[in-house]
Amino acid sequence: MVAYMDHKDLGNRQVSQERAGQIADGVKRVVERIAKAEDSAGRKEGSVTLLAATKTRDVGEIMAAIDAGVRRIGENRPQEVTAKAQGLLELCRDRGLALGTDAADNDSPSVGFHLIGQLQSNKINKILPYVDTVESVDGTSLARKLATRALAAGRPVGILLEVNESGEQAKSGCAPDQARDLAYELAAMEGIQLKGLMTVGAHVDDEAVIRTGFAHLRGLRDQIRDSGETGTDTCTMLSMGMTGDMEYAVAEGSTEVRVGTAIFGPRAFI
Ligand SMILES: *Cc1c(COP(=O)(O)O)cnc(C)c1O
Repeated sequence: MVAYMDHKDLGNRQVSQERAGQIADGVKRVVERIAKAEDSAGRKEGSVTLLAATKTRDVGEIMAAIDAGVRRIGENRPQEVTAKAQGLLELCRDRGLALGTDAADNDSPSVGFHLIGQLQSNKINKILPYVDTVESVDGTSLARKLATRALAAGRPVGILLEVNESGEQAKSGCAPDQARDLAYELAAMEGIQLKGLMTVGAHVDDEAVIRTGFAHLRGLRDQIRDSGETGTDTCTMLSMGMTGDMEYAVAEGSTEVRVGTAIFGPRAFI
């Protein structure tokens, strides 16, 4: 259990009007930032999807973001997925929305439910009932286990290959020079569908360095998508860009930005 989970009831559904208003303002500001970045980059409006990064936020806070128009959420930790899933599912259903895997059996408009943090294989069964996409797959061993469990559950799961473009030690993800071969292996596996690539931008204050990593990821995505290898035609997503670097990511072709702080405010816990 992560320490902050002792201090905050993540399943809490109540949110004050004031807090809901702050979150709605946050969503609005981020949507405007994305639109402006799309425009500056000469990209079509709506080509970048906002994923709200919801770690440490409770059910009520997340529903406030959904009520403000967010249609994709991402959790970092399997324990947080299970702590919040029931509440989120119920409150989404109340609004005529299908969340995550709920969407597969349902015609309702949907809210995507992704895992964006590291996944240990002993936690796969905890998340598979809920999340439709795992963005943090970094090797064949995790991918194979995900594929096997998803096949057994009778529902394929979307994956992104996470690439450590910055090479920073603390970061997860595969090495950039292994990404292409790995992607071909993953794309061919039954039970998972390779939807694209994901990276966390370099932790530096240098636009050129950050953008080089994003541009490299886009190049990899293009090569993989256009390779003709089995299962690679669905490799279209580029998940890159966060609160501090989303404009650079959009300029370099991001199709999904993962934003926490700019929506919900600073995190009280990591
Ligand atoms: C927390 C997190 C984000 C969002 O970070 P912010 O800086 O709060 O926008 C995005 N991606 C991953 C993988 C994260 O863990």
